[in-house]
Amino acid sequence: MKSMDEQMLIIFGASGDLTKRKLIPALYDLYKGDFLPENFVVLGTSRSDLTDDDFRNRVVFNSEFLKDEAENSDATKAEFAKKLFYKDLGDGYDTDFTPLKERIHELNSKFKINHNFVFYFSLPPSIYETVAKNLAAVDLSVEGVGWKRLIVEKPFGYSLETAKELNIGLQKYFRESQIYRIDHYLGKETVQNLLVTRFSNTVFEPLWNRNYIRHVEITNAESVGVGNRGGYYDKSGALRDMFQNHLMQIVSIVAMEPPISDDPEEIRNEKVKALKSLRIMDDEETLFNHTIRGQYTSAIINGETVKGYREEEGVDPASTTETFAAIKFYIDNWRWKDVPFYVRTAKRMPTKVTEIVIHFKPSHHHIFKDQDFDTDNKLIIRIQPDEGILMKFGVKVPGQGFNVERANMDFYYSDLEEGNNIMEAYERLLLDAMQGDATLYARADEVEAAWAFVDPILKYWNESKSAIVHGYSAGVWGPLHADDLIEGRGFWRN
Ligand code: NDP
Repeated sequence: MKSMDEQMLIIFGASGDLTKRKLIPALYDLYKGDFLPENFVVLGTSRSDLTDDDFRNRVVFNSEFLKDEAENSDATKAEFAKKLFYKDLGDGYDTDFTPLKERIHELNSKFKINHNFVFYFSLPPSIYETVAKNLAAVDLSVEGVGWKRLIVEKPFGYSLETAKELNIGLQKYFRESQIYRIDHYLGKETVQNLLVTRFSNTVFEPLWNRNYIRHVEITNAESVGVGNRGGYYDKSGALRDMFQNHLMQIVSIVAMEPPISDDPEEIRNEKVKALKSLRIMDDEETLFNHTIRGQYTSAIINGETVKGYREEEGVDPASTTETFAAIKFYIDNWRWKDVPFYVRTAKRMPTKVTEIVIHFKPSHHHIFKDQDFDTDNKLIIRIQPDEGILMKFGVKVPGQGFNVERANMDFYYSDLEEGNNIMEAYERLLLDAMQGDATLYARADEVEAAWAFVDPILKYWNESKSAIVHGYSAGVWGPLHADDLIEGRGFWRN
């Protein structure tokens, strides 16, 4: 394991849901795993008037997210809680941060932190720039004596223009190398394993191109609906919520050229090149033919009535926000010329799954009569829920003749020996940022390249009369029309 400096994590928005649900549980697991340095403290801050003890009660002792008593004994919780502190910001975030700085300096001296600070913005993005400005105003962004890092949450922008504004706003006060834009998908073991699968094996990389790959299919399916996030989701939609960030990150890793080393900048340079090679769809005909949006409608599933999207709390009854998005696109470079990528993301699907399927071309000449499309080679990289890799290939059916049947070679992370537990995404990402490793964080140009691709689709969906919202019953694999995208190339996984 890389060494880690003594440091303080200052969480803005510490009274909120993310802090309690993800950040503190991740830190607690890192603490239990002995990953945190001896000299480490967390300072929560927000407008809410809380004491240190109130904060500890809220995020540790009374938290439903640290409940497992067998694992989380009271003594461990009590030891961990000693590392947590809180300072309120008064009426708002646009204020003089001198009192906050004084508390930071007091803890810095007491715990010998050496002025190494990670600031985590667990806040609405609309106030990121204000908070960055106020940190800089009291010199809390200045490096020299100790380093300073800034982690920001998603969503990073609402469009290309707003993402650029956010980048410019943050870069006024922090250098790009200090900014860590979180995308929790990059914290997932199987997404990282994609890099290892591609670049540490000799069997895959020679085939990883237009000569052998027929098409690439990426699916993110959730079985749940929008739940109590209807108000937020209705202003966002599947394309902004999942596609622009998580799925574009996956596309960039599937499509990138081999980096010259595992240096974070080398990896991110290659990812950006792949994203910049996406063929932008800006004519109505292509957008009509290659993009499909849908909305789930009410259905009876397992005897229970499930609400349609427009009936969900917080959702406009006349909403056109998509809960299903399927996009076909191309990457204009030597490796991927003419290889279609099919990417879809949706809610209220029959099951929860995120996976990448690399469909290889059929053998050039079929000598066995009964070999059909289903026995073509497929490499499936499953990101969730049962993380692993499966290779599908044709084998002979025992007996007379040469009948071909599909067989699997598979690897599941759950089969690894105990002790090889998969780290939760936030654990891994926090650990990386605390160690100064930005490989799994999105750089400004990556985010902007992804938005440059998504923006024309959103504009078309919002403005064109030909952009239909297809209904699909909750619990099915989306609008029937989505299958037309694949055009005789097989089927979406279902
Ligand atoms: P919350 O809405 O719970 O907000 C966090 C804190 O920010 C609140 O406790 C509040 O603290 C402060 N706050 C909220 N709204 C405003 C406002 N308009 N002006 C000033 N302060 C405000 O957010 P979450 O904790 O759920 O999420 C934090 C960030 O993480 C967001 O960017 C979100 O998009 C992102 N995120 C969250 C996920 C989750 O699972 N919750 C998942 C992925 C991303 P106070 O009033 O005490 O100042």
